[in-house]
Amino acid sequence: MRETLLALFELQKIDTRAYELTQRAESIPKLIHDLESSLDGARSELGTLNTEVEALKREQSEIEAKNAEEGEKHKKWKTRLHDIKSPREYQALSREVEMGERQIRDSEERILEVLGQIEERQKVIDDKTQTLRDGEAEIGTKVRALREEQARLKAEAEAASQGRDAVEKKINKRILRRYDDLRAKRNGLAVVLTNDGACSGCNMTVRPQQLVEMQRFNSIEQCAACHRIMVHENLLKQEQA
Ligand SMILES: [Zn+2]
Repeated sequence: MRETLLALFELQKIDTRAYELTQRAESIPKLIHDLESSLDGARSELGTLNTEVEALKREQSEIEAKNAEEGEKHKKWKTRLHDIKSPREYQALSREVEMGERQIRDSEERILEVLGQIEERQKVIDDKTQTLRDGEAEIGTKVRALREEQARLKAEAEAASQGRDAVEKKINKRILRRYDDLRAKRNGLAVVLTNDGACSGCNMTVRPQQLVEMQRFNSIEQCAACHRIMVHENLLKQEQA
């Protein structure tokens, strides 16, 4: 049983190392996702600004089309004014011409306003686009580094598991199954050392009788609180000595 306890301790050491590396590798996709979505706000702000500029440009061309139409009508009326003989008719038509001119002037003022708004927004769009591109380049570099780190961690986790099979063969199937169950339930940690008479997995004090039993190295002892398999610290001390 002494050999089994040592093998269990060794197996846990291998699995802990691989587990930590795998956990770190698995945390990376979330980091990448967070980085990539950190620019979503800036992208949607740019989208809104572009939509506004498109609406303003549409308004501009609508006014321009309408003005061209009015201008044509206006020209015809002006020509007709020369042919009119009746003063009443002349007055009525010249009022129309005047109103049409005023309308065109107002429209031209609105076009200037619209052009000013377009220019203003376009400046903001240009600035924000540049900032976004810089941000994307920076994030691209970070993401590439993270992907490389992820691949490196995966390779290290595989390397850490080398030699696991040989250790596993020293432990009987029933105990191995218990080890695997515990590892699944206890965040990857199934075997712990005692530390000054306490379980180092959960810090619970071990009953004196159980401590005595453990030091015979003749049984698999589990913590009464966290159920992890406990290896008495003296076993390692004796091995090292
Ligand atoms: Zn415990």
